[in-house]
Order: sequence, then C-alpha cells, then structure tokens
Amino acid sequence: MTTRAQFDADRFEEIKTESSVRTAATPHEMLCEQCARTAFVDADTHETFRRKAEQGISEGFLCGECVAANLEAERM
Ligand SMILES: [Zn+2]
Repeated sequence: MTTRAQFDADRFEEIKTESSVRTAATPHEMLCEQCARTAFVDADTHETFRRKAEQGISEGFLCGECVAANLEAERM
C-alpha cells in the first residue's frame, strides 16, 4: 500500500504511477486541475481519485510537475 505521504516523499524521477504519455502501466487519462495538462496514471491512482469522487471528496488531480512545484513552494 502506498500512502500519499510516501508518494510525495518519492523522488519525482522515480514515480512510475504517472506519465505524460499513455503507456501500458499508465492507461488512465487525468486532467491536472492546476495546469490543465493531461497526464496518464496507473489503475491504482485512477481508482483512488474515483473512490474519493464517489465519497464526495473533491480532491482534484495534480500532475507530477505541479506536485513537485507545490513542494518547492512549501519549502520557501
Ligand atoms: Zn499540473
């Protein structure tokens, strides 16, 4: 099981759950709510957001670049 904290702790280059292109490992298209770029995610990530939406939790998807940029901003 991967928690959000573990995901964020990973180095960006090592994250295999998201890609800018559709691959066999990342077949699900997601729209980043911060930069409106399309990213492709794996089934686990897609399922996590689908479940949150079902539960009425509106947590928008952020692409890896925005997550990294937000982490940079938090450090400053
Ligand atoms: Zn983004």
